[in-house]
Amino acid sequence: MDAHKENFLRNEFLTLSVNGALGRSRTYSKSATEEDKNRFRNALREKLDETSALYKSAVTEKEHLSIIENLSNDLTVRFHHCLRNGRFRIGIAQKALNLYLKYLWCVNLVSQPPHCPFDSIVIRHIPNCDNLSWTSIDSIEDYMKLVQNSQRMADGEPISEWELKVWTDSIQSERSSKIHQATKVQQKKRRKEINGWRVTSARFHDGLKQAMSRYRNSELTTAEIRKIVEHTPGLADHAQFIYPSDHCINHTNKGACWCALTDKAIFKRIRRGVFFIRNMA
Ligand SMILES: [Zn+2]
Repeated sequence: MDAHKENFLRNEFLTLSVNGALGRSRTYSKSATEEDKNRFRNALREKLDETSALYKSAVTEKEHLSIIENLSNDLTVRFHHCLRNGRFRIGIAQKALNLYLKYLWCVNLVSQPPHCPFDSIVIRHIPNCDNLSWTSIDSIEDYMKLVQNSQRMADGEPISEWELKVWTDSIQSERSSKIHQATKVQQKKRRKEINGWRVTSARFHDGLKQAMSRYRNSELTTAEIRKIVEHTPGLADHAQFIYPSDHCINHTNKGACWCALTDKAIFKRIRRGVFFIRNMA
């Protein structure tokens, strides 16, 4: 990979990893200043980048565990004054390092990492670990509990691969719930259109009543009514929106006129396609 491209990616990945680890993890003490936080972030970035060089070739699980411990201890010693309970916890350190390694691995800048980042989404997919929160754990034993239970879930597959699937699946299920919501919005829109249609049929009520007044007390077919409408100025252009079935005393439709089922209705439906024109005042 071209050096500029690699530097660009490393910088982006460091930002994503540091944000992912520090974002909602309550890393700092209450008294930490903005300057403390900036210095800490920069130190973590530097340390992650330096550490990642070790992963150019395969790292064993044992080595990986001691690298996580070292990351946690080194930053604890340097920044205990601005860290919550004076510790850069194992849970947050593993997230930062494992996330950075995952990104680098995906673009072939390091070999396959021994583990995967553990956060709340991944932990949700690990049995017997719902009492562990990645932001609180601070021992290698708890961390190994996550590793071992996820290895059981991965069923022989490396957990770095397993975690990519867990993530893809959870993104997909989130997406399909978004599609579900979009469908709901569409349905709502359709209902609104039906309401718009209601406005449309009501818009022609007066004109239709007027046009039908000559045919009072008689029966007409839909086709005959259609012909009358098509020859009535003011209605002709909208004939496709005007249906006798929308203005019946004994019948209603989706999008019917306000007069439907009231004594102001223009028609009485005799049978399908045949309407009696009511004697309206
Ligand atoms: Zn009407």
